[in-house]
Amino acid sequence: MMKQYEEAKAACGEALLLFRMGDFYELFHQDAQDAAQLLGLTLTSRDKGENPVPMAGFPHHQLESYLGKLIRLGRRVAICEQVEDPKKAVGIVKREVTRVVSPGTVTDDSLLDPRESNYLLSVVRPSPARPPHDEFSLTHDPACQPVGMAWVDLSTGSFEAAMLTESRLPDELARIAPVEILLPDSVQIPKLLTQAVTTRRPDWTFSTKLAQERLTQQFGTQTLEGFGFTSNDQLAVRAAGAILEYLRDTQRTALHHIDRIVPYRTGCSLELDESSRRSLEIQRSLHDGQRDGTLLSVLDCTVTAMGSRLLSQWLASPLTNIAQIRDRLDAVESLVRNPSQADKLRRSLRETYDLQRLLARVATGRAMPRDLAFIGQTLQKLPELRQTLASLTAPLLRRLHAEIDLCSDVADDLRQSLADECPHTLQEGGVIRLGYDARLDELRELAAGGKRWIAEYQARQVRESGIPSLKVGYNKVFGYFIEITNAQRDRVPDHFIRRQTLKNAERYVTEELKEYEEKVLAADQQAKEREYELFTALRERIQSATRRMQHTASMLAQLDVFAGFADLARRRDYCRPEPLTEPTIEIADGRHPVLDLREADGTFVPNDTLMHLPDAVILLITGPNMAGKSTYIRQVALLTLMMQVGSFVPARSARIGVADRIFARVGAGDRLAHGQSTFMVEMTEAARILNGATAASLVILDEIGRGTSTYDGVSLAWAIVEYLHNQIGCRTLFATHYHELTDLEQSLHGVTNLNVLVKEWEETIAFLHKIAAGAADKSYGIHVARLAGVPRPVQLRAQEILQQLEESHARHAHYPAGGNEPADSLAPAGELRVDVGAADAPLLRPHLRTRPRVRRSSDLQLTLFAPYDHPLLDELRSLNVAALGPEAAVQLLRSWQQQLQQEREESRLR
Ligand code: ADP
Repeated sequence: MMKQYEEAKAACGEALLLFRMGDFYELFHQDAQDAAQLLGLTLTSRDKGENPVPMAGFPHHQLESYLGKLIRLGRRVAICEQVEDPKKAVGIVKREVTRVVSPGTVTDDSLLDPRESNYLLSVVRPSPARPPHDEFSLTHDPACQPVGMAWVDLSTGSFEAAMLTESRLPDELARIAPVEILLPDSVQIPKLLTQAVTTRRPDWTFSTKLAQERLTQQFGTQTLEGFGFTSNDQLAVRAAGAILEYLRDTQRTALHHIDRIVPYRTGCSLELDESSRRSLEIQRSLHDGQRDGTLLSVLDCTVTAMGSRLLSQWLASPLTNIAQIRDRLDAVESLVRNPSQADKLRRSLRETYDLQRLLARVATGRAMPRDLAFIGQTLQKLPELRQTLASLTAPLLRRLHAEIDLCSDVADDLRQSLADECPHTLQEGGVIRLGYDARLDELRELAAGGKRWIAEYQARQVRESGIPSLKVGYNKVFGYFIEITNAQRDRVPDHFIRRQTLKNAERYVTEELKEYEEKVLAADQQAKEREYELFTALRERIQSATRRMQHTASMLAQLDVFAGFADLARRRDYCRPEPLTEPTIEIADGRHPVLDLREADGTFVPNDTLMHLPDAVILLITGPNMAGKSTYIRQVALLTLMMQVGSFVPARSARIGVADRIFARVGAGDRLAHGQSTFMVEMTEAARILNGATAASLVILDEIGRGTSTYDGVSLAWAIVEYLHNQIGCRTLFATHYHELTDLEQSLHGVTNLNVLVKEWEETIAFLHKIAAGAADKSYGIHVARLAGVPRPVQLRAQEILQQLEESHARHAHYPAGGNEPADSLAPAGELRVDVGAADAPLLRPHLRTRPRVRRSSDLQLTLFAPYDHPLLDELRSLNVAALGPEAAVQLLRSWQQQLQQEREESRLR
């Protein structure tokens, strides 16, 4: 048997092998040690002699839960089953690896999140490097190298492939979020920023020849042109072939539900790079990578798993085509305006099941009777769904109406054949409805009648033998028997044949009883076989209609997303946004979708946004930390994204120019673990934005330049804004606490200063979260430190240092090159407070410039870390030492000392 084990183990590579032995799954050697640690199993040993073999195991009925744990830990698991009946086996029972399960090949319902797609992805690069004398290969930028990629969701059958450039790989991986990635053995891949498990596969499984073979086999076509692939898509096709080969290796079953492959073309949807996707917390929160607190969690008001998965896909690839956006908005509006129909649709949808995953189980031959019953129940809901849809007029809803195939033939078939209370599995019987098949009914009657016969037989034997306690019973080992207690042993008739002796009784059989037993058991067995036959035939009929039902399933998913959008829009009072071709943003009373829901009702402060060419393309938002800058700029990006997905938005009104890309650089990022410094990450992201943004993009930048010395930081931030303004001209929201940047408003037409209002009284401040025109007057850093609970002595000392700095800086101010400082800027800092708490401060009227610029106290925070020149140093620099006599020198030194002592005295008195 261990030889059998070794063979199975050799065939399944590094996967943990679960080896079925009787009622247990056992693991041996290193697998046993790993499993003991991962699953908390007890480690024992098989051969206690000289070479003990480590062993661990668990009862077979716990397979699902242990399998789930191992997969979640990113392990691959091979399952080796007994493939013949141990009773009938001659010698050792035959065993075979029946499937290999990995994160990307899970199909078990209990191991999948119903709301998430489960993608297995493969990546392939061009074949070995060109010879070095090839000039092209020497000069070619590796970032522009082509890459082929394909991804499949085995649990639904969706299969796509794409050609990309190397540089887009991380963004596409972030968009698709696969759980497992297949890579050729020989390829060196830089660390990919994904949570996915990497599976190495032999190079030949990525070859063109194999791909052609597998793909044509799978789809029954000679070429893939019919699916929209061309000769330029070689690498994509190779990646797809590698996936099919892997599935063939691991699944060992037909995969009829993968019946097409769709070419994915980059550039057809709104592009979001990996870090922008993270920063905006679209599907995963920055804090713990979960759904909570994300845009998805707000938007997902779907009532089916299919709708939920589709919404995730839409959020991963928002639209850029204005007509398509309008179509979706029309559908949502139609449902918002017809709440009773919308509610009715949602009620019906709630009663449907996950048709996509059910059909995938049918196609892989793993569907259980209950699965077919669920398909039947879902199909039965279609007529009423379609009828409700009939009265809605939006073009997309009309299309859904037309394309929902009722599949009434399949529905009728299922209704007629399956029992009402259909059991989960086949073992118990009772799957096929009574009256469906005459032969089955006959066998069932015989089996049931046989049982009745036993009761009658018992009564007859009691009568004839005169033993009232005589009983007819049944057990698995001896079959039917007659049991007579020892007290009545003398009265046992002669034709009873003794079978078994118990403590207080004897068990007998008779010829008549044996005959009947055979008949009954045979009928029972035949009924089960007949039922199995009927069930598999039914499953095959359902399978042949898979494609039609898959299409209907995708219509239901869309309907669910629209109805969810409409429900959210009504509940939260969202408005229909107007998508525009020009890069304008006009939002009245916009709210951040996540905070709006999270904060107590009515406490989120709505804000306006006004961006348009040529006056207000770049909004510079200043204000203290915690004022709401970052919330505001994210809000604008999220509303734009929501519109491009087809959702209404949390605002009173919104007109938004469709963006081709959204870039978001928010916060310092958390990639230190990946070996990059905060500043390096920040600058890499800035570089991506500056190289990738177009005039149609939307850029939000939060506190750029923070990770370096202050002068460096301001200069970089300054130059970045200038570049965005002069070279790209895209809509940009820039939140910063570098007040120096607000000077840009003067030199760059198109830059508008905004600030977040703060109310100050006595020693404390209140954040009003209201965006107003103009630059903030100070940064309130020390106030915020107080709110955060920094000890009082630190606050006081900071106050003292700030005052010193303000004073000396007011005397010797420096401005970044290009800052055309007005003459009044040297006014003493203390006189410059502006009451920003005034409720009637001018809101968002970019033409209203709050000039002249005044010197702000907060500018001086700059000098904390920057070299500061004392005036004496200038004197020293220009001093002609050679011409200075000893006495004059001593006098000069004394006067300098006095001056410094006096300065210190003055600052102490303050
Ligand atoms: P900043 O970027 O200026 O440091 P944030 O945008 O992070 O500030 O906002 C800080 C906190 O203020 C948020 O977590 C939120 O609780 C609150 N906040 C921000 N904007 C608003 C608003 N418009 N209405 C109500 N609360 C807000």
